[in-house]
Amino acid sequence: MRYPYLLSILIAAAAALPSHAEPAAQPRLIVAISVDQFSADLFAEYRSLFTGGLKRLQSGVVFANGYQSHAATETCPGHSTILTGSRPARTGIIANEWIDQALARPDKKVYCAEDPTVPGSSSSQYTVSAHFLRVQTLGDRIKAVSPQSRVVAVAGKDRAAVMMGGHAMDQVWYWSGTAFVTLPGAKGFEPKSVATTNAAVTAVIAKPAPTTLPAACQTRSLSVPVAGHEVGVLQPTKAGDVGAFKVSPAFDHAVTDIAIGLIRELRLGLGTAPDVLAIGLSATDYVGHAFGTEGAEMCAQLLGVDENVARILQALDGTHVPYVVVLTADHGGTDLPERNQLRGAADAARIDPALSPGRLGQQLADEFGLKPPVLLAAQPFGDIWLSRDIPDPMRARVLDAARTKYLSHPQVAAVFTAAELRSMPAPSGPPDEWTLAERFRASFDPERSGDLLVALKPHITAIADARYSVATHGSPWNYDRRVPILFYRPGATGFEHPLPVETVDILPTLAGLIGLPIPPSEIDGHCIDLDPGSGSTCMR
Ligand SMILES: [Zn+2]
Repeated sequence: MRYPYLLSILIAAAAALPSHAEPAAQPRLIVAISVDQFSADLFAEYRSLFTGGLKRLQSGVVFANGYQSHAATETCPGHSTILTGSRPARTGIIANEWIDQALARPDKKVYCAEDPTVPGSSSSQYTVSAHFLRVQTLGDRIKAVSPQSRVVAVAGKDRAAVMMGGHAMDQVWYWSGTAFVTLPGAKGFEPKSVATTNAAVTAVIAKPAPTTLPAACQTRSLSVPVAGHEVGVLQPTKAGDVGAFKVSPAFDHAVTDIAIGLIRELRLGLGTAPDVLAIGLSATDYVGHAFGTEGAEMCAQLLGVDENVARILQALDGTHVPYVVVLTADHGGTDLPERNQLRGAADAARIDPALSPGRLGQQLADEFGLKPPVLLAAQPFGDIWLSRDIPDPMRARVLDAARTKYLSHPQVAAVFTAAELRSMPAPSGPPDEWTLAERFRASFDPERSGDLLVALKPHITAIADARYSVATHGSPWNYDRRVPILFYRPGATGFEHPLPVETVDILPTLAGLIGLPIPPSEIDGHCIDLDPGSGSTCMR
């Protein structure tokens, strides 16, 4: 050895190199966690309070300013983007519910995760399915090249599980209203952890729950009156209250228990090909709707998510296989208008009931001598359909009159017609700079979308009667579009970037890590290089 000294320096230098300098092992288990309604604003507000899993994930690659870039910021469209690389315009999931007047059944409303070919199906009594999802998920794509890969999904909401899991799931579990269940007719292994969790949940619901507010949340406990009740202060729950269970951290805890059970019982990551696990933590959304985003309830909820994510990471560590976790949200959200008003948002208000499609449609019926309903919709904004009973020669005039009516209302920001959106190309470039029309175009499906697309002004909450639900999302505004996107691989060096990446970038990014080719023409997203240095985790 001519240069023993130099060699020893080289060896010491190599040992001191951060792990990213060596090609990290390909993940054997890919885990996607969706925290429903976890806005970038909530992440910013709470990130310094996290001590568990959400702290650990911040040592990975952090995009605090990610985007669900489309206008229809709802659960089903949002979940359809996370593992498909595609915006709702391509996934076909334009909303949680839409109107299909060609349906040969009395209920013309479609639920995004129903199978309408099952006899007797309706938007409220349905068989859960990925029927309406027009594209492949990561799980579908992995199974196409390695059928021995396992694809597993568990979520509070059925639509979250199905839209992330896709068309070829080995295991899928979601809350039915009384227990965690799987698809009817599903065959195969029934994990013990599901039965154990269902028994535990029954016991939790049967007991009154205490109101122990974490110390870190004390300063957020302040009562705000709304529609005859109050929010902002954590309330004790009564025995047997299933609704209270869904708006508590206990709901996500149960989903986490099943996810951990599946990791262990199925020995995920230990098979002959990479496995996929999608986890939908849904309770944050229910808390946001029931109590708003800025009270003690949301604080307690998010600290619960922090703890549940820590438990998931611990179970993943226990597999001793290389894994990758991505955590994001299906959409953001904003607080109830009453508290927004108290805290400086002077434009915050509830939607004027006069904007209901029923009432606007009645005016059009009177003016044109038509039989109501003239306008159909699943909600008072977003997609609005003209009744197909309107005679063809009148349709253009009725559509124009409807548009004028919406635009003349002071709470309406913009109205687009299907024809306008159809003529636009799919948006590109940074999503924070998109026009309103581009945001609507990103969740526009020519076959399924409405004839008119209505945007309410910022801070207009589309809930007129706040007795049961006080706050919501679904707007094209950035508080509903911006979500955190966090990637974590144990041992890999992380970084943070303010880049407005999109949730559709997640699929190609994960595919890059396992060398799974994805034809760029099939998706909207782009691979994000998770290597902070000169290496790349994307395929070249
Ligand atoms: Zn929601």
